[in-house]
Amino acid sequence: MSELDTFRAETRAWLEQNCPASMRSPTPDNETVWGGRDASYANPDSKVWLDNMASKGWTAPTWPTQYGGGGLTSEQNGVLQSELQAISARSPLSSFGLWMLGPVLLEFGNEQQKLEHLPKIVRGEIRWCQGYSEPGAGSDLAGLQTKAIRDGDDYVINGQKVWTSYANHADWIFCLVRTDTTVKHNGISFILFDMKSEGVTVKPIQLISGDSPFCETFFDDVRAPARNQVGELNKGWTIAKRLLQHERTNIGDFGTAQGPQTPMHEQAKKYYGENAQGQLANSTMRHELAKYQVRQRAYGLTYARVGAELKAGQGDGAASSILKAVGAELNKHRSEMMIDILGSQGIGWDGDGFNQWEIMQTRGWLRSKANSIEGGTTEINKNVVAKNVLGLPTK
Ligand SMILES: Cc1cc2nc3c(=O)[nH]c(=O)nc-3n(C[C@H](O)[C@H](O)[C@H](O)COP(=O)(O)OP(=O)(O)OC[C@H]3O[C@@H](n4cnc5c(N)ncnc54)[C@H](O)[C@@H]3O)c2cc1C
Repeated sequence: MSELDTFRAETRAWLEQNCPASMRSPTPDNETVWGGRDASYANPDSKVWLDNMASKGWTAPTWPTQYGGGGLTSEQNGVLQSELQAISARSPLSSFGLWMLGPVLLEFGNEQQKLEHLPKIVRGEIRWCQGYSEPGAGSDLAGLQTKAIRDGDDYVINGQKVWTSYANHADWIFCLVRTDTTVKHNGISFILFDMKSEGVTVKPIQLISGDSPFCETFFDDVRAPARNQVGELNKGWTIAKRLLQHERTNIGDFGTAQGPQTPMHEQAKKYYGENAQGQLANSTMRHELAKYQVRQRAYGLTYARVGAELKAGQGDGAASSILKAVGAELNKHRSEMMIDILGSQGIGWDGDGFNQWEIMQTRGWLRSKANSIEGGTTEINKNVVAKNVLGLPTK
């Protein structure tokens, strides 16, 4: 038996013992685990599952063990992921710390910062938010105006961020600040601070749905210890861009999502019925589904290859923009098709006429519209691909 086979057998046995039965099904929205100081668990098994996985470092399987990670090779991680998939295990932790901050701390953080923050991210103890966009700085992110001025051992921060996802639930923020006003890209620094610091005000933005997934975030004379600056002063743009590459690779993963546990063509049969050969009765939808499944399969294979290279720090980081742009469109397309399949059952928001699953599809469809905006719009990602992947002239 090869080492990898032994690892697979041990992993399978461990999962059998440690993954609670109720964690072997798709995660309903209200059971997603984000962790944090004030975390609550709609399903108590979620906490058991998180703690079990964190005890192995398997919420961050390839991070080094000295920072709480699993220390797995990419091959071992591949085995772990396939064993998790085989039992339909839920993700134990959704976390901006895992997806975005952790990888850049591993690359750019000093030893003290890694030891302080990474283990808490692995265990889901601290929930992070992303302080990038400002009212006048979205696509043109380097135009940001939030200022940080050095005062003794601290920075004093003043300014405003916007669209800060879950700032109202986050414990800490990774934030881009202007530390030199005379230059653009070379005047930005990357800093971490506690959202409980005096002078931080968070105003949730109420959406038409009644949800408030993101916030306006104001900083009035917020003091952040200078030791929380990651990387060099005024060199934050390099870190900001690398973090975006990790964010984009992760958003690109939406394009590989299978959606509901029952395959889409089986779901479609429920709503359209079957013909005499047992096929989906609507031939146009049959054709659409087949075309989508071919695209999704091809994308899934490309994502597995390019995504693994990017996560391993190989290949061209700018390729994350390809994954992000294509993955966003695929996820939007999948959501559109689900609504087509549901017909009039796909326009429900609430109420007795619609079951929970149908409502989840409708809400998922509306949420998917943001995929081509969040993490950088599709237009901006196409610009990155044109310039940095294809090497096309900018003028
Ligand atoms: C669901 C969601 C969650 C988000 N979460 C966060 C978060 O947690 N933290 C955070 O900091 N930000 C967050 N954002 C903000 C997001 O990063 C910005 O919305 C995004 O970068 C676009 O910026 P903008 O909204 O200012 O649009 P703008 O920059 O004003 O763009 C408007 C339009 O102009 C186009 N455009 C702009 N410049 C160019 C150009 N050079 N070439 C071609 N087209 C161009 C854009 O593609 C877009 O269609 C989130 C956004 C969404 C939708």
